[in-house]
Amino acid sequence: MELRDLTALELGAAIKKGEVSTVEAARAALDAIAAQDKALNAFITVTGERTLERAEKLQAGAREAESPLYGVPMAIKDNICTRGIKTSCASKILGDFAPPYDAAVVERLARAGAVSLGKLNMDEFAMGSTSETSYYGPVRNPWDLERVPGGSSGGGAAAVAAGLGWYAVGSDTGGSIRQPASYCGVTGIKPTYGTVSRYGLIAYASSLDQIGPLCRDAADCAAVLDVLMGHDRRDSTSLPGLDSGWKGSGPRVDYGHLLAGLTGDIRGLRIGLPGDCFGDGLDGETRSAVLAAADVLNSRGAEIAPLPFPALKYAVPAYYIIAAAEASSNLSRYDGVKYGWRAGEYEGLAELYRKTRTQGFGAEVKRRILLGTFALSSGYFDAYYKKALQVKAVIKDAFDRAFQRCDLLLTPVAPAAAPQLGESLSDPLSMYLSDIYTLPANLAGLPAQSMPCGFDGRGLPIGAQLVGSCFGEGTLLNAAHAFQQETDYHKRAPKGGVPA
Ligand code: GLN
Repeated sequence: MELRDLTALELGAAIKKGEVSTVEAARAALDAIAAQDKALNAFITVTGERTLERAEKLQAGAREAESPLYGVPMAIKDNICTRGIKTSCASKILGDFAPPYDAAVVERLARAGAVSLGKLNMDEFAMGSTSETSYYGPVRNPWDLERVPGGSSGGGAAAVAAGLGWYAVGSDTGGSIRQPASYCGVTGIKPTYGTVSRYGLIAYASSLDQIGPLCRDAADCAAVLDVLMGHDRRDSTSLPGLDSGWKGSGPRVDYGHLLAGLTGDIRGLRIGLPGDCFGDGLDGETRSAVLAAADVLNSRGAEIAPLPFPALKYAVPAYYIIAAAEASSNLSRYDGVKYGWRAGEYEGLAELYRKTRTQGFGAEVKRRILLGTFALSSGYFDAYYKKALQVKAVIKDAFDRAFQRCDLLLTPVAPAAAPQLGESLSDPLSMYLSDIYTLPANLAGLPAQSMPCGFDGRGLPIGAQLVGSCFGEGTLLNAAHAFQQETDYHKRAPKGGVPA
């Protein structure tokens, strides 16, 4: 049996049956990282020894494990705090910062028997759509090493696609799980805002940030989301009631809730196709692949109906004002005093701040801080920030209206497949524009998912996005599951690109 070919759930089942040991699984993943990650640069930190120790400790409990993901090796985006393990946000300014605590999701994963391989490369502070703005160098796409893996969770998408671990946990502020999933041919979901605790997720834009999984398929996503979701008092935006009735100690981990809903039966499901998402600027092969996905869903009994969504055009400007404004405030804490790295030479406190921030942040992060500070400054606040919040409400309203007519929306994830390395860095505005299809779900706080739906003429993966209404994760995942029962795009693995 080739371990690499198993999904996370299949590997978990094999571990439980005693066909594979937790140590064998961890070693296989560490060997794959050793062989391939020089080329991909998907990891910032690989925890080798620590990973093996954890796997050894878990072996004894494998047969009695309740969690379907027990003993399965995985990796965590480097903006999620891990106790005693460097957490850098791919920024120079955090230096070798090792948090004194675990993020809520890391605690929950530990309870579910996850074996972490280490921390994943990303765009600096999750700002970007290509994973090129990392202080640790760009991540490469395993389907073509001259192309980007998408961003900002590019390390996670590249690692899962190349078989360096069975799933990844990333974050999505404006598309950072879905778009890299699409560029790398994996399945990723951003859940409803407030369903996964942000405690220990280093903030970019707090009102938009959500943690979620990147996996081989929808079933794995359901299993990981079952672990991640739940109420947490330490996050004031965490939704109460998610764990109602839970009387145990520690976080409740609800194995199998979403997983049990994956029947693959989507008869009568109403899927809206927003015409505005298929207009100018969309690559022809991407359009055909997403429309073909609609046909497949239709063949399984879903009803497909066109729908207007004119609010789409407001998403990019509103998002980039709100995200930059929140980022400028969130990133003010990096001053060379509290965390991580500090400039070498300075005179007085003001210069310490200035030099640390000047040398510690990269160009894209500075651009956002400048933009956000401007949008929040007195005299401009109403014209930009307040206006953007009003537009956000308009977008939420547009979704509410759409969901009176359908259960899910089907759109492209990105206007085209993965661009060449370097292309986007020279043209940030067109990079921002390429986020158009993913941003609306964040502005409205809705769940949205990316699933592989084809390949372009160059052999690069194409993704389709499904957006659901609040708490519609189960419906989304079941639709993707039905699609994946009919197709094998999610099963294909990159060859050629990665040296064995
Ligand atoms: N590309 C978007 C941005 O740069 C989204 C990033 C994200 O979701 N973290 O803001």
